Amino acid sequence: MANLNIDSVKERTFDAIVIGSGMSGGWAAKEFADKGLKTLILERGRDVKHIKDYPTTNMYPWEFEHRGELPMAVQEANPIVNRCYAFGESAAHFFVKDAEHPYIQDKPFDWIRGYQVGGKSLLWARQTQRWSDFDFEGPARDGFAVDWPIRYKDIAPWYSYVEKFAGISGNRDGIPELPDGEFLPAFPLNTVEEYFSKHVKSNYKNRYVISARCAHLSTPNQIHLDQGRVQCQRRTICERGCPFGGYFSANATTIPWALKSGHAALRPFSVVESIIYDDKLGKATGVRVIDTNTKEAIDYYAKVIFVNAAALNTNLILLNSKSHRFPNGLGNDSGVLGKYVAFHNYSAHIGAEYDGAKEWTTDGRNPAGGGYIPRFRNVYKQETDFLRGYASGFSAYRFPQRSWDGVGSSLKDNLANKELGPWRVGSHMMGETIPKESNFVSLDDKQKDAWGVPLLKMNIDYDDNDEKMKKDYVEQLTEMFTSAGFTNIKASTDKRAPGLDIHEMGGARMGNDPKTSILNKWNQVHSVKNVFVTDGASMTSTSCQNPSLTYMAFTARAADYAMSEMKKGNI
Ligand SMILES: Cc1cc2nc3c(=O)[nH]c(=O)nc-3n(C[C@H](O)[C@H](O)[C@H](O)COP(=O)(O)OP(=O)(O)OC[C@H]3O[C@@H](n4cnc5c(N)ncnc54)[C@H](O)[C@@H]3O)c2cc1C
Repeated sequence: MANLNIDSVKERTFDAIVIGSGMSGGWAAKEFADKGLKTLILERGRDVKHIKDYPTTNMYPWEFEHRGELPMAVQEANPIVNRCYAFGESAAHFFVKDAEHPYIQDKPFDWIRGYQVGGKSLLWARQTQRWSDFDFEGPARDGFAVDWPIRYKDIAPWYSYVEKFAGISGNRDGIPELPDGEFLPAFPLNTVEEYFSKHVKSNYKNRYVISARCAHLSTPNQIHLDQGRVQCQRRTICERGCPFGGYFSANATTIPWALKSGHAALRPFSVVESIIYDDKLGKATGVRVIDTNTKEAIDYYAKVIFVNAAALNTNLILLNSKSHRFPNGLGNDSGVLGKYVAFHNYSAHIGAEYDGAKEWTTDGRNPAGGGYIPRFRNVYKQETDFLRGYASGFSAYRFPQRSWDGVGSSLKDNLANKELGPWRVGSHMMGETIPKESNFVSLDDKQKDAWGVPLLKMNIDYDDNDEKMKKDYVEQLTEMFTSAGFTNIKASTDKRAPGLDIHEMGGARMGNDPKTSILNKWNQVHSVKNVFVTDGASMTSTSCQNPSLTYMAFTARAADYAMSEMKKGNI
């Protein structure tokens, strides 16, 4: 039963409510608070304060009880999240554990989540690339999904806007399919990465190996110092939370900035159960929250509501927001809510050795992770038997050739060996998947979570297109590796379930036509003008670039639009 204390209604009334305090929600909060709007940030998890709540950030490897590994019992109790490469002893406290927040896998789906202030922005690998016109034009060109209601020119100024504040390192590479941004100096490639980059450039048309662009302060500007952040120290233990604010996270950047303004309030431990729609007023009036400690239901009110709970939770909230006007979920006149979910395909890898450059080794660490190969398939024209394309990571490294053989002193000698082996090179595929109606999430009509919210059901799968793309990636990268003189090339593909790439998108897609989409070109619900969705749920298609920078740019753009509409009295 909701709290109906009329006296406190005023206290629970805000100009803006932001649901979720992660990568995208932090931006909405910052934009509203900067402009003086009384803003409530609702977060289902606990508070994580920058620096103070990073318990492992200054620990040495030997200070971890299990030397970084999680005990077998923890791994066995968490088969889903344990598949994520970053789920280890140093960062496990920022991941959702399997049993705590169940969901239903009608088809296998590895849902990797971070429920706390900052969301997954504490855990991400910080790869940040703009999407290009090739991405926004994709659906119209190929005829899958619906046309994007915007093009690159609409979002480009907002990319610049968020890049300057967040701090993105990179080179201006001049590649049309990967537009340049407002970059801080790039982290350089090492000698073998550089060698491969030159080799590819001189042997292939329209293929490049560039320094990966990432959300790290290689050289901070004044705006970053104003946020209390300093230069990235290249510790590369970012998933523990960075006390220097060396990389972009909501915790180090947007959330403290919003709170410092004095216009924003943060309420952790608050699961948003649904958005309240008033049939008479014809708009949303607020949200219903379940306090996770007391299990009490409390309603909060606002003129405008931004839904930023991360793609699938945003779908859950919208689907669960039922009213007389919207019996199938808020804004769901078209019936497409929850459908056309898409994701990325990271399921192929290639490793090899390089016998050259023996006079070189690596020194220091690169937080950008090395090189990035922008998409080169089907960019200017359809040239393969699969739709769309893939980008790839590329990195090279060299380690001492240690052996674990022997016992006693012979084992010690083997482990102490400082002799460097050959360079090892590696790549992983980052493919686009096609949004399809048959890939959808829905609510279970019986099972509920600990707060009485229906469980989400996953019906998401790979298809033929993904298999063909994977095969092409292996063939093309094998050829590029071979021609570069790499040896001992080994490709591997895994049978992972969707989800593990942690780039789930769609369900509340944007589009021009309310009959086939939930949101208009401003991320605004077609039929509920004061509700906006600006996280991955709003993505019409997925591109193959990492998505978070695009969520940030969409959020800042939509917040600006929402404020101008409020001023005009349209909201
Ligand atoms: C290991 C890892 C590596 C990654 N690497 C990259 C990368 O290199 N590049 C990239 O672009 N992306 C990367 N990602 C993905 C990136 O983290 C997400 O795209 C991004 O965080 C999504 O932003 P968001 O605001 O939608 O969600 P989040 O950042 O997850 O924030 C959502 C917030 O909403 C809260 N919430 C959910 N439901 C409710 C509710 N009902 N009520 C109230 N609050 C709620 C959650 O607790 C959370 O705090 C990575 C993620 C992980 C985990």
